[in-house]
Amino acid sequence: MMKRVALHTLGCKLNYAETSAIGERFKANGFDLIDFGEDSDVVLINSCTVTENANKECRQLVRRALRKNPSACVIVTGCYAQLKPEEIASIEGVDYVLGSAEKFRLFDLVDQFAKREVPRVSVGEIAHETGFGPAYSSEADARTRAFLKVQDGCDYNCSFCTIPLARGSSRSQPLDDVVAQAKELVGRGYLEIVLTGVNTGDYGKKDGTDLYELLCRLHEVEGLRRLRISSIEPNLLTDQIIELAASSDRMMPHFHVPLQSGSDKILGKMRRRYRSSDYRDRVEKILHEMPDAGIGVDVIVGFPGEGEDEFQQTYQFLHALPVSYFHVFTYSERENTPANEFEGSVPVAERRERTRMLRTLSEKKRGSFARKFEGSIRPVLFEAERGDGTVQGYSDNYVRVALTPEQRVAEQIVEVQIGEWSGDFAEGEVVEATQLTDVSE
Ligand code: SF4
Repeated sequence: MMKRVALHTLGCKLNYAETSAIGERFKANGFDLIDFGEDSDVVLINSCTVTENANKECRQLVRRALRKNPSACVIVTGCYAQLKPEEIASIEGVDYVLGSAEKFRLFDLVDQFAKREVPRVSVGEIAHETGFGPAYSSEADARTRAFLKVQDGCDYNCSFCTIPLARGSSRSQPLDDVVAQAKELVGRGYLEIVLTGVNTGDYGKKDGTDLYELLCRLHEVEGLRRLRISSIEPNLLTDQIIELAASSDRMMPHFHVPLQSGSDKILGKMRRRYRSSDYRDRVEKILHEMPDAGIGVDVIVGFPGEGEDEFQQTYQFLHALPVSYFHVFTYSERENTPANEFEGSVPVAERRERTRMLRTLSEKKRGSFARKFEGSIRPVLFEAERGDGTVQGYSDNYVRVALTPEQRVAEQIVEVQIGEWSGDFAEGEVVEATQLTDVSE
């Protein structure tokens, strides 16, 4: 009988992409992929260091997996395993702990896929790692959007971040390999590729190339309909990239750009490589070139030293900025980061309140952005049909759009008249005559 493996991912799109790649290797080695929580022979957890209570979460997941099948071989890998291998190894029932680089050598390091008396820990020095584990993932098995990993690690040293410790220094997938992978994905029917990395804007810097060149090369991939960058640091979002997006037939008018704080004092303490005026300048440039562009923002609240004044600066800065939504992160202390030693810790209740305020502002922005397009026609890439027969997708400029069950256009790019904003999505009406593509063609 075929062995069964269940995979579980915590954290970011990059981790999801890597779990997918690991899943492919299991399949190539004769395993059946099954849902996590089902009866399986092997369980793999790809952990995250950004998750709060990562240890507790891992412990609960291991317990949940073993409840179903006590003899399953349990492997924990990912960023948290890289940072705290001994902590992970001490969780009862864990058999193998693999670091960030070792996860791509799993089949060399785990021989029997059987339970062990004593866990085996294979976690190397990540700081000098130069290897690159290629990966991509898609959403809910639909062949619509693929998240393609093009870069890993980071050479920046933001004072709150453990990612460089867990993933090592910046390295990239060679240009030709990315192009070849993109062609393969298009060949399999994917309509959109989202370029993903830890610091995607840093792509290729060590290899004498850059993200702009990669984007240009990806324009040669025939049949690729849509291209986005998952996230790009403001100091790396060049005029050249913005202008390319504006003149491109496939780069979407949408950027996600981390801000983290609207206070220059806090940005300095965070060791970010720009100030609020640089950020504003990037937003203005995007909207000058593409007035309908969607712009997403990452922001951290409750960083040490963020008093009421600094928070208000962030709030007012974002309030005035014509961006379309934010991802708000509540600061939490991380061991081995400089920020952990900073004075001016913000009370947890205050951090929560500031998070709530910014999330409310984000919802307002999201709604007013979507309402701007009410009545207009925009192309939307619809995802797979849901259980209730409804279909959702994103417009070119990242407005979430939903169709009613009678409009069955899943997994296609279709022109849609944008309707009323419901709070979560805009209702859409398919403009029949101008259907753009069908993956089954
Ligand atoms: S740019 Fe800063 S926040 Fe982002 S991964 Fe690098 S160190 Fe972390």
